[in-house]
Amino acid sequence: MITITRYHDISAGHRVVGHEGACAHLHGHNYRIWFTCASDSLDDVGRIIDFSEVKKRLCAWLDDNWDHRFLVWEEDPWHEALALIDKTVVWIPFNPTAEKLAAYLVNEIGPKELKGTGVVLVSCQVDETRKCSACYSTISEPTWYLQSHQKEQKELF
Ligand SMILES: [Zn+2]
Repeated sequence: MITITRYHDISAGHRVVGHEGACAHLHGHNYRIWFTCASDSLDDVGRIIDFSEVKKRLCAWLDDNWDHRFLVWEEDPWHEALALIDKTVVWIPFNPTAEKLAAYLVNEIGPKELKGTGVVLVSCQVDETRKCSACYSTISEPTWYLQSHQKEQKELF
């Protein structure tokens, strides 16, 4: 397996329902979101996918859907009130923690946006601040590690 990683920065608001502290308030982050894509094969140039394709497909999705928007859980008791104030709020089917945002991007958005490319979005890290981030990964490291070492490395180089 070979991976490539590209990050993208967006600004978005959210609140975490049930949070014991300040994150239950309406607030926002300058998110940095790291996409890691994987494949077992390289193209004729020597890439699994061009970085510009990741930008066009995944980073652009963030720009179009979450950047400068407020992310609200559909079951948040405030969701209808927030939508009355601002019609551009984004209703999402989960409490918008960094962990769940990362999992949603890997499980829902990656497969759609990377369809037909031959690469898979295998992990996503969502940085809420420079100190705090969550990572959702589908990579089972011992398995991938063993598989990659069983393969002939000459296939790739
Ligand atoms: Zn927050």
